[in-house]
Amino acid sequence: MKCMLCENLSLTHICSSCQETFLTPSIYKRKIYNNIEVISFYKYSEIKKLLHTKHTDLGFYIYSILAQNSFKKFAQEFEFETSISSVAIDDNILNGYSHTAILNTELKSKYIKPLYNKLRANNKTSYSGKSKEFRLLNPREFQLKNITHNEVILVDDIITTGSTLTQAIQTLNIGNKEVLFCLTLADASYK
Ligand SMILES: [Zn+2]
Repeated sequence: MKCMLCENLSLTHICSSCQETFLTPSIYKRKIYNNIEVISFYKYSEIKKLLHTKHTDLGFYIYSILAQNSFKKFAQEFEFETSISSVAIDDNILNGYSHTAILNTELKSKYIKPLYNKLRANNKTSYSGKSKEFRLLNPREFQLKNITHNEVILVDDIITTGSTLTQAIQTLNIGNKEVLFCLTLADASYK
């Protein structure tokens, strides 16, 4: 096949040379609700074209490559005093795979146990391209399924206004869970 970025022949959808050049992660931090930190690995503009493969067949492979370059490396270096859970936003299966579940899977480590289908949005309204006001007026109405660990990492692919993650944190707090921090692939506030 051809590398999606340089169009040279490659064994994977993004060749190893492009992965090194374009997908070496950085750390971007932002604080949201209750001073909880959101750590992102890329600027939105850097990987915009790749993120647009979401909900297509190609997206499965692209999100796997992105996750291996960022979430997996993060998890390999992450240490904590106890074992904790990681929970992804909207990880219900659409079109054969869940893009946030792919990210969450790569967090598996000695300290992190990825959990699936723990946070369901009862309101499926898309926030994509919508204003902060719209997001506030249309809460996602998250519903939490039981989690044994008390400390949780939240996972999503993009942070824009932070509304979705804030609502997820509030839902977890109501369920007596502490969100240690959030991890996203890309932060849209970094252009
Ligand atoms: Zn390439």
